[in-house]
Formats: sequence, structure tokens, C-alpha cells
Amino acid sequence: MKTPGDPDLELRGRLIRSLGSLREMLPGSFVERKRACGRPNCRCADGKSLHSQYQISVLIDGKPKALNIPAQLAELVREKIEMRRRFDAAAATICGLNLKRFLKAKEDRQA
Ligand SMILES: [Zn+2]
Repeated sequence: MKTPGDPDLELRGRLIRSLGSLREMLPGSFVERKRACGRPNCRCADGKSLHSQYQISVLIDGKPKALNIPAQLAELVREKIEMRRRFDAAAATICGLNLKRFLKAKEDRQA
């Protein structure tokens, strides 16, 4: 029979182990723009059936950049950028747990 452990440590362990699956994460945000290509006889000329342009909006050396992505890679890139969000959320939770544990340990030492 497994002894019940510290739920905080179990959660931290679970989060740490989940980070490996996020190793292909990408920075920035995923952007989908609608645009007309300008060709007069294209389907987009009506102003409604616009083309999708996919981009990664990201800071490179502190400067904002918009990097174009081919449509066939758009879904993949969207997922990789979502990985970054999950990575950050996991890191924030781990830091919160560690801070709580640190403050608790400090208190116990002073008691
Ligand atoms: Zn067009």
C-alpha cells in the first residue's frame, strides 16, 4: 500500500515530469490575418473571401517581429506556441508551491 504523500510535492513532481513534452515550444503569439492579395480577378476581390496569412508575433533582440508561416504549418505552430503558455503556467505553479514551502520552513525555523 502506498503511503499518502505531500500533495504539493506530488503536484510539483507531476508538473516537472510534464515539461519534457513541451520541449518543442515556440515563443511569441500566433496571429491569423485576413488580407486581400490585390489581384483584381481573385476570389478575394469581393472583400469577403479573404486569404489567411499566419504569423508568429515575437520579440527578437527586443524588437517586435512578425514572421510569416506557411498555411500547412499553421496548426503545428499554433500548438507549439500553446506549449509555451502551458510551460509558463507550470513554472508559475511550481514557483508558488516552492515559495509556500520556503515560507513555511522559515517559520518553523523561527518557532
Ligand atoms: Zn486574392
